[in-house]
Amino acid sequence: MKKILPLSISLFLLLLLGSVKAQQPLDSLLAVRGFAIAAPQVDEVDRFVKFIDEELAPRNVNTLILRVDYNYEYESRPELRDSVALSKEDVKKMVVVAQKNDIRIIPQVNLLGHQSWAGDLENLLEVYPEFDETPNIEMPEEYEWPNEDGLYCKSYCPLHPDVHDVVFDIVDEIVEVFEADAFHAGMDEVFYIGHEQCPRCHGRDKAELYAGEVTKIRNHLADKGVELWIWGDRLIDGKTTGIGMWEASMNNTHRAVDLIPKDVVINDWHYETAYPTAAYFAMKGFRVVSCPWRTPDVGVKQVQDMVRFRDQSTEEMKSRYYGVMQTIWSGAGDFMDAYYEERPDEERGDRTQWNTFKTMYDEINRLSSE
Ligand SMILES: [Zn+2]
Repeated sequence: MKKILPLSISLFLLLLLGSVKAQQPLDSLLAVRGFAIAAPQVDEVDRFVKFIDEELAPRNVNTLILRVDYNYEYESRPELRDSVALSKEDVKKMVVVAQKNDIRIIPQVNLLGHQSWAGDLENLLEVYPEFDETPNIEMPEEYEWPNEDGLYCKSYCPLHPDVHDVVFDIVDEIVEVFEADAFHAGMDEVFYIGHEQCPRCHGRDKAELYAGEVTKIRNHLADKGVELWIWGDRLIDGKTTGIGMWEASMNNTHRAVDLIPKDVVINDWHYETAYPTAAYFAMKGFRVVSCPWRTPDVGVKQVQDMVRFRDQSTEEMKSRYYGVMQTIWSGAGDFMDAYYEERPDEERGDRTQWNTFKTMYDEINRLSSE
């Protein structure tokens, strides 16, 4: 025993040293190596757990955004649950595999915008129609874009006196069950804000309305030591930059960039061109994560830009170039099918979500081993 012990200790130290050595360059290259996807449906959980363990972890993904929304059996607000929703046990399976692999799970529930999709209301406005920012805009039978109402997605009214009682119950519960230290509130593509149909918001400054809601959510979370993450598009001036109404704001919310707390983490998504807007957010004092979708060379450029920006920055700015995050905009099941089958897109060929994910992470791991 006496002879074996020193050997096992030195082996242990060797292993420890090895793992520290392998991990160190990667974390200083890109602190956040993210992957964002809808939380799996109940019958996809086991497969998804395996996917985390066998595909995300070996590629050195360390941050997993799960869009949960109402796909959870909320106990505080059971009226908002999807008809089939994840149980606490389902969630814990994902928590366990993530912890085992040092992956930080950040649950997402869309707040403010994205309260409907195509022709369907999401659960919040279905159950609480009084929170609707545009109560007179009816959901169409057959949704098409563009449309006369400018309806992309419904918003809730950020000044409704009761809305936060409801949504903060959801936020608190989902953060707790995922044992999370950060929460993603979405807040992208908010087109309905300060609308003329809202007696509370109409006539107010849209940047101040947007910033007020970000700040309120941030303060609620900060009280519990939880960090807020949001998408960045509403904070970019779409007109002056020419980036337009989707990836940037054409409805005057962009001045909110100077009104919100600097500890909010910005997810700066650009999908067809790697606009170098990370520098803008970093210079404003925010940590910023660049996000591709389904164009592999955009993902690669975002990785290279992020690394170069860090390299060429002052000590003050360096750590704000926080990393990159692959975004997946199909369901988890659909994504896993396409990923394992290596299915090309009918129109786009190999310019797919799964190939962007693989290509971008190849580049990250290549750079870290240089
Ligand atoms: Zn309102």
